[in-house]
Amino acid sequence: MRIDIATLFPDMCEAVLSESIIGRARKAGLLEVYCHNIRDYTQDKHRRVDDTPYGGGMGMVMQADPIFRCYQAVCEKLPQRPRVIYLSPQGKVLTQRMAVEYSKEEYLFLLCGHYEGVDERVLEEIVDEELSIGDYVLTGGELPALVFVDTVGRLCEGVLADASCFMEESHFDGLLEYPQFTKPAVWHGREVPAVLLSGHHANIKSWRREQSVQRTRQKRPDLWEKTEKKG
Ligand code: SAM
Repeated sequence: MRIDIATLFPDMCEAVLSESIIGRARKAGLLEVYCHNIRDYTQDKHRRVDDTPYGGGMGMVMQADPIFRCYQAVCEKLPQRPRVIYLSPQGKVLTQRMAVEYSKEEYLFLLCGHYEGVDERVLEEIVDEELSIGDYVLTGGELPALVFVDTVGRLCEGVLADASCFMEESHFDGLLEYPQFTKPAVWHGREVPAVLLSGHHANIKSWRREQSVQRTRQKRPDLWEKTEKKG
């Protein structure tokens, strides 16, 4: 998978994307991510990329043209048009199920807005869908883009050691994950549940399933209701 990010703050994105599992996956060539500075595509001699909103009002709006030029430059490098996502508080809220679908794409282009947002006309021209990371407003689309790359990138083949790493996790099948424990077996007088030390795989599996159901019912009754309905 290749993800191109159009942003006014490429260093901010690059700093996060060079670390940990995603950073290693990029170095190993399992995931390609490129951060493009929208400012490099402005034709303004002062490198401006924003202006005041028509109709008046507070703040600045990102101009259409530098974004469009950035998009065009990326498209020229790709064998096919990427799926274009605008990170926006007005979009559909990202879920694990959507992340699984996105992880099957070959080319994605993420547009990060800033200030009051982006000139609507460029959104109409290039964007396939708007995506939110939650019903609150951030200063820019960079953190949402990083959340997206992290969530989707770890689902791509080879990025995690094994698909079971994410298939047993919270939200994969509508349940939350069971509790996890590591050494020592007793800490501050608290013992690890005996079944986990038994080596009996079938019992461990059914204990974990029960725990998943129990904690989903307790912590996220809304999620449990949906999962139960689906059967
Ligand atoms: N004026 C816009 C509105 O009310 O819908 C909000 C603009 S926000 C301050 C600036 C940028 O941050 C947006 O263009 C978007 O790219 C990004 N952003 C803010 N909140 C977001 C969220 N919850 N999910 C995804 N992107 C978000």
